Amino acid sequence: MKYISTRGQAPELTFEDAMLTGLARDGGLYVPAEIPQMSHDEIAALAGLSYEETAFRVMRPFLGDCFTDEEFRAIIARAYESFGHAARAPLKQLAPNHFLLELFHGPTLAFKDFAMQLIGQLFQTALERRGDRVTIAGATSGDTGSAAMEAFRGLSNVDVFILYPHGRVSEVQRRQMTTPQDANVHALAVDGDFDDCQARVKDMFNDFDFRDSVKLAGVNSINIARVLAQVVYYFSSAVSLGAPQRKVSFTVPTGNFGDIFAGFIAKQMGLPIDQLVVATNQNDILHRCLSGQGYYKGDTQPSISPSMDIQVSSNFERALFYAYGQDSKAVALLMDELKNGGFDVSQGAMQALAENYESGRTSEEETLATIKSELASSGELICPHGAVAVKVANEHRKADVPMITLATAHPAKFPAAVEDASGIHPPLPPRMADLYERPERVTRIANDLAALEDHIRKNITN
Ligand SMILES: *Cc1c(COP(=O)(O)O)cnc(C)c1O
Repeated sequence: MKYISTRGQAPELTFEDAMLTGLARDGGLYVPAEIPQMSHDEIAALAGLSYEETAFRVMRPFLGDCFTDEEFRAIIARAYESFGHAARAPLKQLAPNHFLLELFHGPTLAFKDFAMQLIGQLFQTALERRGDRVTIAGATSGDTGSAAMEAFRGLSNVDVFILYPHGRVSEVQRRQMTTPQDANVHALAVDGDFDDCQARVKDMFNDFDFRDSVKLAGVNSINIARVLAQVVYYFSSAVSLGAPQRKVSFTVPTGNFGDIFAGFIAKQMGLPIDQLVVATNQNDILHRCLSGQGYYKGDTQPSISPSMDIQVSSNFERALFYAYGQDSKAVALLMDELKNGGFDVSQGAMQALAENYESGRTSEEETLATIKSELASSGELICPHGAVAVKVANEHRKADVPMITLATAHPAKFPAAVEDASGIHPPLPPRMADLYERPERVTRIANDLAALEDHIRKNITN
């Protein structure tokens, strides 16, 4: 199994090398050269299996011979053992033929744990075998950073440095980054905003001396291993509701397009998915693009679903690659145009996108109203990201096809907005109830490349 770049100018890699590399050297994103197929019978045989066994069967073909079956089973077992629900990704019913896929039972209460926990173990196994180590640097507006720290903490071949904007993440998000006590994870509160954090991480990757000396690696959402880990719950939930004998649909609260793209892969593998619906908040560049208005950047408007506040959606490049018939030259040209503000999608590619994706947008008021109405109609308290999706799902779903809406975060992760909408202060799950008492460990640091690099060099533990 080989991985190729969406821009066609980077070397073909194995799964393991694509995972450890992250971004391709030509600036593109890695995708599998061919998408493995699962037959009707193979999908039917997933019925009743554990999440772990489903993960093994769905992901195994993507790994080639990088990991033995025994290694991969052990990795999966370790990845999901810290989840607070035996089903890992349970379904709840909201209304006739409308279901909520709860993806927030991992250690940081957001769906990013599904992929991050798995790649933590994949990195560790690969690096141990190679006798190598890496330094992971990442910028976060909240959820990715804590998920990465939880996934890599205590591992012996990795140090993790997470840059977050000082004073601009929620208290729960901050505490999830500052309370892990393991010496190899490091929270850095940068005097700047999220864009500054992201820019400094980019600067570090472009400083080749530094990059090579600390063996810098990235685990942001463009990492193909993260996308593939997310394919699993499309299968597990669809099969629970009768696939492959019955078609199902999905609505996905979308930011960087990693999660919904995993749904596209599941469909290409053979899962009978009827609709894949992209739900955006007021930062609706994806909805505008999928409605035929081109892909043009605007200003980011902060929202109550902050994990979806994006202007450039990094994984959308993968969707374009397939919509353009895997024409890497066309993709490279579009990405050049994007540097100057945006691009129009060709008629043929628009048609291909329309065959796979529908889309909708939810305003701030509609998000709050949906949290309130859903509590009244089903008794479920939903986080603002899930609420964005529930509203769009209700506009798109068909009476005779089960709709599965992805709930990407626990309501207690965004307590202010949830309380504002519902009057209920969502409590943290009991296993995390002491989060507010745990001691915090964080370094406040200037928005300055030299200061950051110096700090990282001096604080690597592995
Ligand atoms: C990251 C995130 C999203 C967006 O997921 P993408 O894969 O970037 O589209 C949605 N909801 C929550 C809670 C998130 O943390």
